[in-house]
Amino acid sequence: MTAADPLDVSVVVIGGGQAGGEVAASLRLAGHRGAITIVSDEDSYPYTRPPLSKGYLLGQTERSELLLRDEQMYRSHAIEVRTGRHATSIDRRARRVGLDDGTDLGYDALVLATGGRPRHLPHPELDGAVNLHYLRTLEDVDRLRDGFTVGAHILIIGGGYIGLEVASVARRRGLEVTLLEANPRILSRVAAEPTSEFFTRIHREEGVDLRVDTRVAEYVLDATNRIVEVVLTDGHRLAVDLVLAGIGLIPNVELAETAGLAVENGILVDTGLRTSDPHVFAIGDVARFPAADGSGMRRLESMPNAAEQARVVADNILGNPRPYDAEPWFWSDQYDVKLQVTGLSTFFDETVVRGDPASGRSLSVFYLKAGALQAADIASNPKEFAAAKRLVASRAVIDPALLADPAVALRDIIAALPASV
Ligand code: NAP
Repeated sequence: MTAADPLDVSVVVIGGGQAGGEVAASLRLAGHRGAITIVSDEDSYPYTRPPLSKGYLLGQTERSELLLRDEQMYRSHAIEVRTGRHATSIDRRARRVGLDDGTDLGYDALVLATGGRPRHLPHPELDGAVNLHYLRTLEDVDRLRDGFTVGAHILIIGGGYIGLEVASVARRRGLEVTLLEANPRILSRVAAEPTSEFFTRIHREEGVDLRVDTRVAEYVLDATNRIVEVVLTDGHRLAVDLVLAGIGLIPNVELAETAGLAVENGILVDTGLRTSDPHVFAIGDVARFPAADGSGMRRLESMPNAAEQARVVADNILGNPRPYDAEPWFWSDQYDVKLQVTGLSTFFDETVVRGDPASGRSLSVFYLKAGALQAADIASNPKEFAAAKRLVASRAVIDPALLADPAVALRDIIAALPASV
């Protein structure tokens, strides 16, 4: 950094999502005095995305409630927010960022919080189809909500969190819902079979026509470029009013790549979230970082990850270095079920289930590796989640019979652990 005092360095943040908004605010709250500019290609000030596929789509959360902070806060803290602007280049030698309006910004520290964009269906003929939707931004949801009329038939492609949360809201808004998952089960990327089975049953109980191992084989469009019918790989034909595809996220790495930074399924960073250039950091959905447990590089698409990484980078810019080592956690709201997840279910050799995936609205699934707890999916049991967080953080070896027994409270398992864990 060039400024003598880290509190005076000038910071440019590219991306105005959760990560971008949070890093700017964290800097100021920690006493940073230098210039801060956020460049966002969206028209809104930084907002939080999780409610988009939940309360905002349902119509229960107001637009203003999504804002991380109100506009006045940015003004009073001298944070410049350039909305509707796209960063087009990074000159790392001169430390300048070029924008699409021909201006440029100098920096001592640059934070790339460029996020990702929805993966598009591999059918170029669908680009521009008027009733095809993807979900990432406020504008996407405003468009989708316009088609949410009682009795309309929505086809949802993809059984990840986007597809499942939209299915839940659509049923509550009185739409007919068909959901297709290409894999043999939903949530296969992020959860084990008992969790998939639990949510499959709940969606079917709520009236969703949920089909796994199924894709669209053919789209039929009318003269107005509207998808009116689909032919499925199982041979069925369905008339549709709107289509939502939630088939994954592509990290926005192009700007970093063109600037010569190391990129591989995300912008590569070290434990302090620095890229291959020490003046440039990357955070949020786009950053691929070394896992604190030594299990390799990972990229997490979640709001808590974005928010915490922002705080870590703010400290690192301000000369209070610390690594990013937070335990991952997630949540998802579907109907009356709140799923809370602690840890990552990527590495496990055994699952233990507390409850019955085939009945009821609550369930806990524990992931173990060599007997040690790695992660837990807890549905509709916030108290159990609080205890599960502590247990997962301990990575303790726990008797599976105790975990499986609903009569044994997790807090009693914690109390019985040796003091050293
Ligand atoms: P996702 O988690 O990758 O799930 C998409 C699913 O659709 C995958 O199982 C995918 O299978 C499947 N798929 C792909 N192409 C398909 C096709 N042509 N037909 C049918 N199924 C197909 O992605 P997402 O749900 O779009 O979510 C995007 C990101 O936002 C994810 O990281 C997600 O976790 C995050 N998000 C999180 C929350 C939350 O935490 N509550 C809420 C919303 C979004 P393959 O994996 O085989 O491609």
